[in-house]
Amino acid sequence: MSRIRSKDTKPEMAVRKYLFAHGFRYRLHDKKLPGKPDIVLRKYKAAIFVHGCFWHSHESCRYAVTPKSNVEYWANKISGNVSRDRAAGEKLQNLGWKGIVLWECELRKLNFEFVMDRLIKQLRKNN
Ligand SMILES: [Zn+2]
Repeated sequence: MSRIRSKDTKPEMAVRKYLFAHGFRYRLHDKKLPGKPDIVLRKYKAAIFVHGCFWHSHESCRYAVTPKSNVEYWANKISGNVSRDRAAGEKLQNLGWKGIVLWECELRKLNFEFVMDRLIKQLRKNN
């Protein structure tokens, strides 16, 4: 776990596959947009981030637990991620983009279809 943002994680792949199967076309890890979103749907001006609950401190989530050793190290690292996420979200909004966060825990098997269905509705809402 040396990298802060791991690319091509399992939940991210599942989201990509689902969107593709539903006719959405996207770019990946677009460096030109704030926060380098995981999935970019230009047509919908939507930037999707698939966040690991631990790394991005998902609020009141059981997977967002700070390890018991090196507490300060982890706390700093994670709060850095959180403020970067927030800044990226604001910048995207200022550019007229929708920043959408999907949490890893929400994408677990039981919720996956529900979350994706909600995402697609959200994407289509303003288009
Ligand atoms: Zn979570």
